[in-house]
Amino acid sequence: MFEGSEARCKYCSYPLPFGSNICGRCFSNKNRFDGGFALFPYNECGRALIHSVKFKDRIEYLKVLTLFKSEIADFLKDKNIDVVTYVPSSLYHYLIRGYSVPREMAKILSSYFSIPYKKLVFTNKPFKRLLSKSKSVAERKSIVKGFFRVKSGSVFKNVLLLDDVFTTGTTVNRIADLLKSENVAEKVFFLTLAMVVKN
Ligand SMILES: [Zn+2]
Repeated sequence: MFEGSEARCKYCSYPLPFGSNICGRCFSNKNRFDGGFALFPYNECGRALIHSVKFKDRIEYLKVLTLFKSEIADFLKDKNIDVVTYVPSSLYHYLIRGYSVPREMAKILSSYFSIPYKKLVFTNKPFKRLLSKSKSVAERKSIVKGFFRVKSGSVFKNVLLLDDVFTTGTTVNRIADLLKSENVAEKVFFLTLAMVVKN
């Protein structure tokens, strides 16, 4: 977990100094998501974990989700999630790994918590440009805008969106925006394995 941090943002779980309960990003009220939870800071153990999940052995993250089952249950308990979905990987990454980390997470949580899972988000382009940390928020936004699309037609109240890493929130915000503007979701919550924390 987020060792060393005294508190976490009540909306997005970003670690904060003692006495604070809302982060600057959520305070600015520009988020399109309605809340979220990350299991690890990416900067510490999270990076190694994500790397092993993505490039070595898929069993590792299955164990992690089991370890955090009660924290996840705590996060979900008043959300009334009616569907679990995930950020799609590009075909390129899918072919390299043979599986998609967010989709595997969705399957696991769907069975743990008996919530149906459904693919609601699709990619427009076959190759994803890497959203590396070095890219600025503006650069990330222009890459992400137009990359995803959602299938309208389904209507859900509370959607849980899964991804491996929450970096700047650009991806989660873009997908939350699409799900809401296409009337697929009323509320969108995210759950990620890791969250990048600014030093
Ligand atoms: Zn926050």
